[in-house]
Amino acid sequence: TKQTTINGFNTASAAAPHVVIVPLLAQGHTIPMIDMARLLAERGVQVTFITTAVNASRITPIIDQVHESHLPINFIELPFPAAETGLPEGCENCDLVPSKELFKNFFDALFLLRHPLEQHLKDLVPRPTCMINDMCNPWAADVAKALNIRRLVFHGPSCIYIFCCYVLQKHNIYEKLTDDAEEVVVPDLPNTFRVSRIHAPGWFNSTDFKQLRDEVLHAEETADGVVMNTFDEIEPMFVEAYKKVVGKDVWTVGPLCLYDKDFSTRIVRGNKLAAVDQDRMFSWLDSMEERSVLYVSFGSLTKMKVGQIFEIGAGLEASGVPFIWVIKDVEKSVEVVEWLEGFEERMGLRSLVIKRWAPQAVILSHRAIGGFISHCGWNSTLEAVSSAVPMITWPHFADQFLNERLVVEYLRIGINIGVKKPVFYLGEDEIPVMRDDVERAVRSLMGDGEEAEERRVRARELKEKAMKAMEEGGSSYENITRLIDYIKQQPPCKDVQGTEF
Ligand code: UDP
Repeated sequence: TKQTTINGFNTASAAAPHVVIVPLLAQGHTIPMIDMARLLAERGVQVTFITTAVNASRITPIIDQVHESHLPINFIELPFPAAETGLPEGCENCDLVPSKELFKNFFDALFLLRHPLEQHLKDLVPRPTCMINDMCNPWAADVAKALNIRRLVFHGPSCIYIFCCYVLQKHNIYEKLTDDAEEVVVPDLPNTFRVSRIHAPGWFNSTDFKQLRDEVLHAEETADGVVMNTFDEIEPMFVEAYKKVVGKDVWTVGPLCLYDKDFSTRIVRGNKLAAVDQDRMFSWLDSMEERSVLYVSFGSLTKMKVGQIFEIGAGLEASGVPFIWVIKDVEKSVEVVEWLEGFEERMGLRSLVIKRWAPQAVILSHRAIGGFISHCGWNSTLEAVSSAVPMITWPHFADQFLNERLVVEYLRIGINIGVKKPVFYLGEDEIPVMRDDVERAVRSLMGDGEEAEERRVRARELKEKAMKAMEEGGSSYENITRLIDYIKQQPPCKDVQGTEF
């Protein structure tokens, strides 16, 4: 059959389910939602993916590949109202917000996308039948309501975090506490699990964000269901408990990072810059022994202080282990650049410092990688799990402290570096981790002691479970089938006057 495409859509089957995906404009949220968009499209769902010019330009190779392969995904670029909210021109992603003070302006700008999105979707052919919005975009709930379509919330973070925050909020447990570091028992779990407010803060936990927090909670409560980037086998107790308390359909569909098997798109995942210098990187990695290299990266947002960068460098140097270390653009102060010159010279062929966006998922799956110092962002954690790479955990904020607990206490595939206090992602003045901590943790993770070996065995077993979950017959694969069935079974949509469309 000849396929007719308008803006990437197959208009021959107007009855096909059509989902609008509204991601938070932050790499840790957008990346898995693009994976989800491609996965749903490959299985017959038409997708409209909402983005902006700056965000779309990062992933042009992926958009091109989607068009070439006729996947029915339409990328819509809404103009981003940076200037209206006092943000610098082009500040269209969380990782571009220049200071802590402007963080709120970024969320204000997102709210202004509401009307343009509604206008756009109203005129779209075929009409969307369902929306999946990132939980941090509560304004999207109003758009779904105006269009009278069902709406599912997407949770990018771990279920251990989502569940704990949900029940602690529901039972008003934090209100009874005077000390943020005091540990409380999390209710509605079969086994005792204690957390403190600093390690399970819930979303937007500051007075500046009270309104946003309330809107997020309301949009979560009024959603028709929940889609989560996790899999049942990695955190069964928390997935089960969450399903019980939330009172609506929950589809666990991850790890979404395992969806993409095509090297040409995996290498540019999140940002086309990742493909720069790939030949040099692969010839270096290929020359290294199996499982001998440590990968060091702290996600898309965390910004290390100069002094902390020096401590990490000194610890890596002292450990004697070969490594890849990712240093972000925003971390490249004059001081750091100068210091790096001498450092890289001393390290010679023992290290590779990537000074831009790195192709993380591809690096982690290389046979030479044997360990990962990570901030425990949930995507990074799932990517490590999917490649059987044990971790050194160094959480900073949001779900990362609970992800550390999952990795270290439950899954036992990592060791902690010992941080206790959360930091905002743009950094505090303190330097919580010293060179000796880094050296000690690296030697122990990468060494050949019995515990290190057992960690590797458990990591391999967990990787098998992750792969199985995403294969036909696996838990996440079957949940995706059920999610698509749900989207298909929708009743006809009505507009605000009650007219069917
Ligand atoms: N990432 C990447 N290259 C980088 C930095 C980050 O590919 O140089 C990807 C990483 O693989 C993950 C995402 O960006 O998919 C970061 O998400 P995560 O949840 O780990 O942390 P966040 O950035 O949200 O703190």
